[in-house]
Amino acid sequence: MSTPDAPVLPLRPELADEVPYGAPQLEVPVLLNVNENPYPPSEQVVASIAAGVADAARSLNRYPDRDFPALRQDLADYLAVESGVRVAPEQIWAANGSNEVMLHLLQAFGGPGRTALSFAPTYSMYPEYARDTHTRWVTGRRAEDFTIDPDAAAALVEAEQPSVILLASPNNPTGTALPRETLEAVLDAAARVPAVVVVDEAYAEFRRAGTPSALELLEAYPHLAVTRTMSKAFAAAGLRLGYLAASTALVDALRVVRLPYHLSAVTQATARAALAHRDALLAQVADLRAERDALVAWLRRQRSAAGPVQVAESDANFVLFGTFADRHAVWQGLLDRGVLIRETGPDGWLRVSVGTRSETQAFQDALTDVIAEQE
Ligand code: PMP
Repeated sequence: MSTPDAPVLPLRPELADEVPYGAPQLEVPVLLNVNENPYPPSEQVVASIAAGVADAARSLNRYPDRDFPALRQDLADYLAVESGVRVAPEQIWAANGSNEVMLHLLQAFGGPGRTALSFAPTYSMYPEYARDTHTRWVTGRRAEDFTIDPDAAAALVEAEQPSVILLASPNNPTGTALPRETLEAVLDAAARVPAVVVVDEAYAEFRRAGTPSALELLEAYPHLAVTRTMSKAFAAAGLRLGYLAASTALVDALRVVRLPYHLSAVTQATARAALAHRDALLAQVADLRAERDALVAWLRRQRSAAGPVQVAESDANFVLFGTFADRHAVWQGLLDRGVLIRETGPDGWLRVSVGTRSETQAFQDALTDVIAEQE
């Protein structure tokens, strides 16, 4: 018999033991766990957003523009400045975070009887997009240094015949960016299936000099979609604005599966106001990149009971380091000292986001302490 605590609901059986995705949200002085930008918007940005939202509020009785042409134009302009690649506004798509953009991609190109492919370890939401769209989920492995072997990747595409391939570059949680030759190998193999290749560039603005953006390949590959977000470089995780650039045909397919008016007038106005301050926001990204490189160098000088600390190459605003015999103990030791990082990635590794100079210092002091305690 059913009780009020355990109602009988016709839940899809594959969801029975699932829990909602998300890192713990704890009240801790130093938050370095979800790769946020540590700098809140400046007062100038706040004032522009307030003015933009006030303007949007004056017509909130109306639905917003379903196709948000003004925002698409602003995003295209931003990409041209950031990467040197100019796309038309019709080649831009946006939604509530790049999470939703990628769900749209799976809704349009995945589905029952179809396969989505990625390379582990990678972003843990990908299998959830596949699950929620009834798409079969397959992963290849990254090499020891978290790179993807181009020939092996092309062979796997050939063998699995996916309709969607998800490649994070820089990858979460490892920080690894993909070289052009790997992207081209996967794109060429995908063209023969055919498959849509999604290059998730959520962290692209943090890439090191010389690391390419997949945007440069858009013109040659109409089955490529490059996703970006305002959550990281733009210091606007709370806004929920992700977007992509792709061929017009690919974008038009996404317009079919989106809910009507999915991007609120308030979201559109906030994003446009933030984008108008792109120069100031990108200046902070340069500081964070330098802070990241200093953190990598510092971690490489540390030794734990298990030997020298290993650090993955990072093109992102976070660093994966390890390995620890008991990573949970290290994570907990840091938390006890007021520093929250993320227990994620392959066994023994931990991930720390790049914070302000003083937050990084707090992390370094706490880690030094924790390692000393373990010896
Ligand atoms: N891709 C990657 C690789 C991520 O790490 C994240 C966020 N952690 C996202 C996409 C989603 O970001 P958002 O939905 O905030 O744009």
